[in-house]
Amino acid sequence: MMKVGVHVSKAGGLSRALQDAIDLKCDTIQMFAGSPRSLRQSVIDEDEASAFRLGLAEEHIKPLVVHAPYLLNLASPKEATHELSTRALADEITRCRSLGADCLVFHPGNHLGSGIEAGIQRIAAAIIKACDIAELTRSDGLLLLLEMVSGAGTEVGWMFQHQRAIMDMAEDAPLGICMDTCHMFVAGHDIATREGLGGTLEQLDRILGMSRVAVVHANDSVGMLGSRLDRHADIGRGMIGEEGFRVILGNSKLRELPFVLETPKKSLEDDRRNLAAIRRLAREAVIW
Ligand SMILES: [Zn+2]
Ligand SMILES: [Zn+2]
Repeated sequence: MMKVGVHVSKAGGLSRALQDAIDLKCDTIQMFAGSPRSLRQSVIDEDEASAFRLGLAEEHIKPLVVHAPYLLNLASPKEATHELSTRALADEITRCRSLGADCLVFHPGNHLGSGIEAGIQRIAAAIIKACDIAELTRSDGLLLLLEMVSGAGTEVGWMFQHQRAIMDMAEDAPLGICMDTCHMFVAGHDIATREGLGGTLEQLDRILGMSRVAVVHANDSVGMLGSRLDRHADIGRGMIGEEGFRVILGNSKLRELPFVLETPKKSLEDDRRNLAAIRRLAREAVIW
């Protein structure tokens, strides 16, 4: 059975987030540990966190994925921003530990005109320093996942080579990869066809190693192939489409990975509809 879940809101507290995950019958979930649009520190209450961890374990909801705030920019050439982002990443690692998270996903960063090469170096330096501050090692069990991004503006991390270079420079950090179907599609990978997805996975395996991929963000795309437009659409209702998702969900290597939806939502009904769609398409898919 495939593991499927959604990004749940923590706005109503951890117990609410857990209840939403149970109501939606999620096998896995993603959430923000603090505020998504702020780098200010928020402390997680230990009693609340332990009830949350216990609840997830009882319901067999795993992995728990945390997404770092969008404001984080580990590639920033501005010293103050780089420093703040590095500390924020270390804080996220600490919050992940309190929540018992398995993975922390973050966008590598924006080089803001300083160039991909320089951006990659700053990202790697920030990861090394954050692991140092938070005393995170490979044996802790928490994976830091570099998300494949769309390549909008000056984003770093839309080519497998970027992630490879970061992993090579920060080789002691527990790094992995988070695929995102919308981002990869608009970054130019035609993952909506068997030929295109087969070639993309072959490239990914050669450059990064398929075993490095820990999570897939399942999102349809408003933008066309190669458009670099980062706008998520409901499953089956964007440019990847139902047939594209049958191809993705039929791939035997991808089926082993947890799929987390980050589709547009105003209420839990939207999640319910997208979860039903992805589960139906996974059943209809021809395994290859
Ligand atoms: Zn993301
Ligand atoms: Zn994503």
